[in-house]
Amino acid sequence: MKLLLMGPPGAGKGSQSKKLVEAYDLQSISTGEMFREAYKKGDPMGEKAMEYIRQGELVDDELTNRVVRERLSHERPDARFLLDGYPRTVNQARALDKILTEKGTRLTAVINIVVDKEVIIERMAGRRVCRQCAATYHTKFRPPRVENVCDACGGDLHQREDDKPASVRNRLNIYESKTRPIIDYYKGRGFLINIDGEQSFEKVFRDIQRALRDLT
Ligand SMILES: [Zn+2]
Repeated sequence: MKLLLMGPPGAGKGSQSKKLVEAYDLQSISTGEMFREAYKKGDPMGEKAMEYIRQGELVDDELTNRVVRERLSHERPDARFLLDGYPRTVNQARALDKILTEKGTRLTAVINIVVDKEVIIERMAGRRVCRQCAATYHTKFRPPRVENVCDACGGDLHQREDDKPASVRNRLNIYESKTRPIIDYYKGRGFLINIDGEQSFEKVFRDIQRALRDLT
């Protein structure tokens, strides 16, 4: 099984991917992690990638494809994995197809978590994080007992820069222009699964499981 998990920032990909990796015994192959590792080792490729990431930009296609090609070259054709953070552009999706075809294999499914833009902005805008213990809250969906005070440690709650509407809109715009076209690229190839992401975490996961079952 080889899965891609797509969806806008704030659609809950992180927690769904963790759960999928456990439930289907998959390796999680994350380009973000590979870049951070390379950076830690002082690899110039890592330095270059981190420059893009720090500026909130996508790492360029050539560099990203090279890292993924190298990483997947160590895997057998029947390896089971979930790709995390890749592909982010149509060029990367094409490169991935090529890498897999050369290995004599292909993707099993592309799971697309669909959430309306305004819903995401509302979700992110309400997020609050404890300055002391990093516990997370939501002003509407998971409010602390006392406003702006952490239930767990009494620490101060704050809003991360990343979660402010202007920043969220910026990331959503990058997603719309660069990443969203990937969905069209995969459309009509029989393995694109659209999942309603405006439901509880459990319901979203059950829908994914059912769709994967129907596929095989
Ligand atoms: Zn706390």
